[in-house]
Amino acid sequence: MTTKHPIGAFIIVDDGLNVRLDAAKKLGIRTAQILAPPANRRETADVRILQEKFEKANVKITTVFCGFEGESYANIPTVQETVGLVPLETRFPRFDETKAISDFAAELGVGVTALHLGFIPEKSDTVAHRDIVELTQQLCDYCQQNAQRLHLETGQETAESLFQFIQDVNRKNLAVNFDPANMILYGSGQPIPALKLLSGHVKSVHCKDAKWAANPGKEWGEEVLLGEGDVNIELFLKTLKQIGYEGPLTIEREISGEQQIKDIEKSVALLQRLRSEIWDE
Ligand code: MG
Repeated sequence: MTTKHPIGAFIIVDDGLNVRLDAAKKLGIRTAQILAPPANRRETADVRILQEKFEKANVKITTVFCGFEGESYANIPTVQETVGLVPLETRFPRFDETKAISDFAAELGVGVTALHLGFIPEKSDTVAHRDIVELTQQLCDYCQQNAQRLHLETGQETAESLFQFIQDVNRKNLAVNFDPANMILYGSGQPIPALKLLSGHVKSVHCKDAKWAANPGKEWGEEVLLGEGDVNIELFLKTLKQIGYEGPLTIEREISGEQQIKDIEKSVALLQRLRSEIWDE
């Protein structure tokens, strides 16, 4: 792999994996972020099968993302109540599961565990904020034992809040998976200035696009095909170059079925064109 910016995709590893990997191979996708399979599919035998399948397709897994039972992205208040490690009722079982997923990723030979932490409480609420800082420190230390970084997905808070949070956690292996579309979908700020502010911490990205909602922050924006939204993908990639980002350009298209594969194909073509214009790769 000569390019410093391989084109990747977010790939779900369920029963449709073979079809997705065939498509990825055809499209020239070389890296993948995967969503961790459920607990009963993370045994050593499952790890070996996954390794074989990805190797055969010549796709390198770069990141394992955590997803938890009971999470719902139905609307923004529901995300606040159900997603990540912030909701108290599910916090500790999910904390343990994140560590188990880090172990699974390590067995796969993957150096990054990632997650949506949830809506990080504002600093004014000191106890709630401190609890999440401590929890994240413990997770970072756990991932460190597995020689991994922990990546936080962007979108649920402003770049300023996330920047401050990273300073508070103060762990070298904590980094950001920057998703420019999420900033728009959640209404948490303009993506390009956010990328610049977080630049020192961005170690992976999602190439995803979205349109602003009429009432940003109160209702969802709309996720759309890469290049057709308000992110300005060309400027996004130029800014990645400016900040010295070296890593995969991981396409995330949060629809399913045939249309998803068609859209990923178009996204690959767009990224290949822009990559050659911007990086000469
Ligand atoms: Mg994302």
